[in-house]
Amino acid sequence: MNPGISRRSLGVPASSIRGLIPFAERALKAGKKVHFLNIGQPDVPTPEGYFEAVRSFREPVLAYGGSHGNPKLVQSLQRVYREELGVALAPENILVTAGGSEALWFTVMVLCDPGDELIVPEPFYANYAAICAGAGVRIVPVTTRTEDGYHLPVSDPARAVESKITPRTRGILLSHPGNPTGTVFTRQEVELLGSIASRFGLFLVADEVYRDFTYDGRPFTSFASLEEAKEHVVVIDSVSKRYSACGARIGFIVSRNEAVMEQAMKFAQSRGCTPTLEQIGAAALYDTPSSFLEGVRREYQMRRDALCHALETIPGVTLRKPEGAFYLSARIPVQDAQAFAIWMMEEFDLNGETVLFAPLEGFYATPGLGRNEIRLCYALEKAKLERAAEIIRAGLRAYGNRKGGLA
Ligand SMILES: *Cc1c(COP(=O)(O)O)cnc(C)c1O
Repeated sequence: MNPGISRRSLGVPASSIRGLIPFAERALKAGKKVHFLNIGQPDVPTPEGYFEAVRSFREPVLAYGGSHGNPKLVQSLQRVYREELGVALAPENILVTAGGSEALWFTVMVLCDPGDELIVPEPFYANYAAICAGAGVRIVPVTTRTEDGYHLPVSDPARAVESKITPRTRGILLSHPGNPTGTVFTRQEVELLGSIASRFGLFLVADEVYRDFTYDGRPFTSFASLEEAKEHVVVIDSVSKRYSACGARIGFIVSRNEAVMEQAMKFAQSRGCTPTLEQIGAAALYDTPSSFLEGVRREYQMRRDALCHALETIPGVTLRKPEGAFYLSARIPVQDAQAFAIWMMEEFDLNGETVLFAPLEGFYATPGLGRNEIRLCYALEKAKLERAAEIIRAGLRAYGNRKGGLA
């Protein structure tokens, strides 16, 4: 008899971002060129300082580090929060983790018991669904709409959130700037959420891994800067997007709540430490001149504009220009974006080329929402994005004209 698998594990949804990869692999095998706009993997070169620091490592033993993290890396993060956000942190307010992903896991495990709830604006980062399911936590969504640029409902943002609070609510979890939406909350929205957290005794988990990418001069208000709610706020941070260093697997939990940090430390100890060399490389990344980030921000803004411009004129496509991060969510004229994505891999090409995108359904908790929406990542060269948009345009036209007709 086979041993059974846990219900916890079986309840974790498969990644809707990576789930279409096998279809893409078959398309590649069939000789098609696939443009991968499904995943947030920037093509910007990682700053050279990272590799130099790793190469200059001379210790004879690659030893364990402390569970808390490399002291130089922690100091670098203290400096960044002080200089860029005006927030003073003690070393104990920072825990180095294996990417923002592990920071999210630890945070959800520390804040929530099985059966507890987190309020999350949807569409949200699809991995939140997997992490919450793994921890036995229910996501209670606040639905946002394409037409509002995926901001909190403008008519009554406070009510939209407060009406979701139950005795099981532990906190509010959000990515800011938003993945998959690109939405950057205004100072008023940030303060409103801070005051709700204070009044109702909730945590505010702010995933700010895209903090450096806001466009059109739009200011960014970090949840870390909410002095009055500082005990409520847990910030998730990472080198992955800031320094185009996704493979380093270095991230952080940042919180001025002592109890949270103390408990997170137990999880950190249970996994020993994060990789010694990667932390040395990451510490060097924070010495990168700020001109690097300015250049990347300009480049992403230009890419965003190019992709929006190319998509806007496709009949039936609805989108709002994203304010930050490097994703664009759009409504497309099909009934089932997942079926369309598979069709794009299996049945369609434009001169041998096709495009992989992420269907947005897996980014919603409310059943049925997002079926006609997709997410595209624009952290790729402008010419590639323009070509991808052309392929999507041709794909949508051919899909609508298929035998049997109905899109
Ligand atoms: C990429 C990403 C992360 C974390 O990525 P890591 O590589 O694990 O640091 C967390 N949240 C969001 C919204 C992301 O897009």
